[in-house]
Amino acid sequence: MLNIVLFGPPGAGKGTQSERLIERYGLVHLSTGDIFRANIKGETELGLMAKSFMDQGKLVPDEVTINMLHSEVLKHDNPKGFIFDGFPRTNAQALALDVLLDGLNAPISLMLALEVEESELKVRLLKRAESSGRADDADPAIIENRIRVYNNETAPVKAFYQAQNKFKSIDGIGTIDEITERLFAAIEA
Ligand code: ADP
Repeated sequence: MLNIVLFGPPGAGKGTQSERLIERYGLVHLSTGDIFRANIKGETELGLMAKSFMDQGKLVPDEVTINMLHSEVLKHDNPKGFIFDGFPRTNAQALALDVLLDGLNAPISLMLALEVEESELKVRLLKRAESSGRADDADPAIIENRIRVYNNETAPVKAFYQAQNKFKSIDGIGTIDEITERLFAAIEA
């Protein structure tokens, strides 16, 4: 199985590039943000809970997120692989993912980290707010909070995969096609 963690700060282009990767490699796309938003739309208990954190730009608690991800993974029978988008976002999540995938004999192959500087992220998120309808994209103070949470809690997850020799940094500045080519090259190297 080809199991990829697509990593990067909010606005780095994980969702856009995930679409390219699933098309080329036939992977199952698991975006925790998308799953939470679907639950909010469906007014589920999980959605209601997640919304209170997401609207403030905070992380949904690990236990909730890990349980949800776990059940999503198990929904798929004999997949070619997964692309994890927006997960893991903490070291505890990374550890839980390793345990889950070890049990399936299908470890993470690679973490691909899209690198984009902060000033560019803010521009992209405010632009996305015009079409996404996402409250967490429209408010500069919430964007600041998400970037702060990324730097404090999520960026350290890189070291987790570096220690396993699975980490690759990808320049996230350029055209969508250029960045896709960099990702393909990193996967096929
Ligand atoms: P972005 O990458 O632009 O921040 P996402 O759709 O990945 O957007 O995430 C939106 C929000 O959903 C996050 O700010 C957070 O509140 C919540 N979320 C998504 N994934 C996780 C996760 N793995 N752990 C905790 N919270 C998460």
